[in-house]
Amino acid sequence: MMEFCGKSVYKGIAMGNVLVLKNRDHQIKRIRIENTQEEIKRVEQAGEQAKEQLQKLYDKVVKEVGEANAAIFEVHQMMLEDDDYLEAIHNMILTENVNAEYAVAVTGDNFSKMFASMDDEYMKARAADVKDISERLVRNLSGQGDTDLSEMDPSVIVADDLSPSETVQMDKEKILGFVTVHGSTNSHTAILARMMNIPALIGVPMNLEQIQTGMTAVVDGFQSKVIFEPTEEICAETEKRIQEEREKVQLLQSLKGQENITLDGKTVNIYANIGSVSDVGYVLENDAGGIGLFRSEFLYLGRNDFPTEEEQFQAYKQVLQTMASKKVIIRTLDIGADKQVDYFNLGKEDNPALGYRAIRICLKQPDIFKTQLRALLRAAVFGNLSIMYPMIISTDEVKQIYAIVEEVKKELEEQGVPYKVPEQGIMIETPAAVMVSEELAELVDFFSIGTNDLTQYTLAIDRQNERLDDFYNPHHPAILKMIQIIVDSAHKYGKWAGICGELGADAELTETFLRMGVDELSVAPSMILKLRKIVRELDLSLNE
Ligand code: PEP
Ligand code: MG
Repeated sequence: MMEFCGKSVYKGIAMGNVLVLKNRDHQIKRIRIENTQEEIKRVEQAGEQAKEQLQKLYDKVVKEVGEANAAIFEVHQMMLEDDDYLEAIHNMILTENVNAEYAVAVTGDNFSKMFASMDDEYMKARAADVKDISERLVRNLSGQGDTDLSEMDPSVIVADDLSPSETVQMDKEKILGFVTVHGSTNSHTAILARMMNIPALIGVPMNLEQIQTGMTAVVDGFQSKVIFEPTEEICAETEKRIQEEREKVQLLQSLKGQENITLDGKTVNIYANIGSVSDVGYVLENDAGGIGLFRSEFLYLGRNDFPTEEEQFQAYKQVLQTMASKKVIIRTLDIGADKQVDYFNLGKEDNPALGYRAIRICLKQPDIFKTQLRALLRAAVFGNLSIMYPMIISTDEVKQIYAIVEEVKKELEEQGVPYKVPEQGIMIETPAAVMVSEELAELVDFFSIGTNDLTQYTLAIDRQNERLDDFYNPHHPAILKMIQIIVDSAHKYGKWAGICGELGADAELTETFLRMGVDELSVAPSMILKLRKIVRELDLSLNE
């Protein structure tokens, strides 16, 4: 039995088989090889294995989301047979007497750089594909096999760290828990864990070499610990606790269909945060009043090229239709910082959180923005949509956005494409936006407070930096004062203000938020009924 403590990201308890995801960024060693023919044979075998894996992926994606989305796996299969690519690998093995892993990694790197430097956008995008197939070959060569996370058995995922793009690929139904050595409580992977009701621990000081796939693990988010190979007694006790938790969740079910109303009659909207179309199931299951934040950038992650207007339109339309007349607030893409996507070619920055991200990309590269806006305006016809813009710092930005929306509107009009310009709001997640919130309130339809970033920028604390977790305090009086300022500014101009950052789900502050006049709380679906219970037990007519 091995026991480790970490930081709990979601309070829940789970038990099951471990799936260890080895760090895929490890350095590939250059080893001198005598039998070069044998290495070439290994490359061929790894290639055959890769083609089979890709075929399986292709079949699965065709079944789930159609041929257009699966085409990329066909391209990968073809690239694996590319003569230039294979010849470069073989040559390197033969002339430099190096191991297959090293030859594939270096060749993959060289080809990827070559594609990235081309002018043609299509060829540029192939850089990520070559990287992908080379990594797949290296994984096969080193016996790690396919880390196709969409095909796994129900497991507790154990890893060094997980990126948002890795997490989105996983079949959420099959994840029992997350345990990682690194990661910060405010990272998007942590947010995803909360969203999916998955017990998760980060910052666990374990040695991954000692932990094997197939071991049993208990992830205890209440006591912030993980136990590998637990005793029979612990297993039995855990089973009991899992059952008790299930019963508590069932009790909350009785609140479905009830209003979010305090004992003295004040109501508040409680909406859900989501990251993908498939999350809408959680929204309905937990009886959310609407969707307060659809992080649309997740449509851009975990793929090799931009989602087309049509793909986006279909995704937004599906969410709107499924939510019927309920409000759906879609945030325009918030790429950058920790959400990196190769094909955006954003380049390396010293301070990515203070860098080229979110609305800044949209205003500088309006073609990307316009594609998303076209999809949104077209989808707006099918339900109760609101658009929300992230990382705003000035009224000037809002005016620029409106000018682009106007252009998109005109284009759709001229093309005779049905559309609607929905309600448009902004996220307040920079101190600058707080300071000019009155001027902003005049311009927009609503505010949604992104407390994750607002805390990061106000306290000057990188939300991704795990060493600073103890300093990252969203209860800081500066943040609470800012929330009051934002709500007052919105109300002065007859607009509404909500909170969609993680703080919105903080049960300790629900009463404070209601007293401040916050109109909406948008939280992980798993928190909806818990918050409803708290709201219904509050009496704001009593003194604080
Ligand atoms: C926030 O910053 O609070 C927010 C909701 O946006 P994200 O966490 O996606 O940056
Ligand atoms: Mg944010």
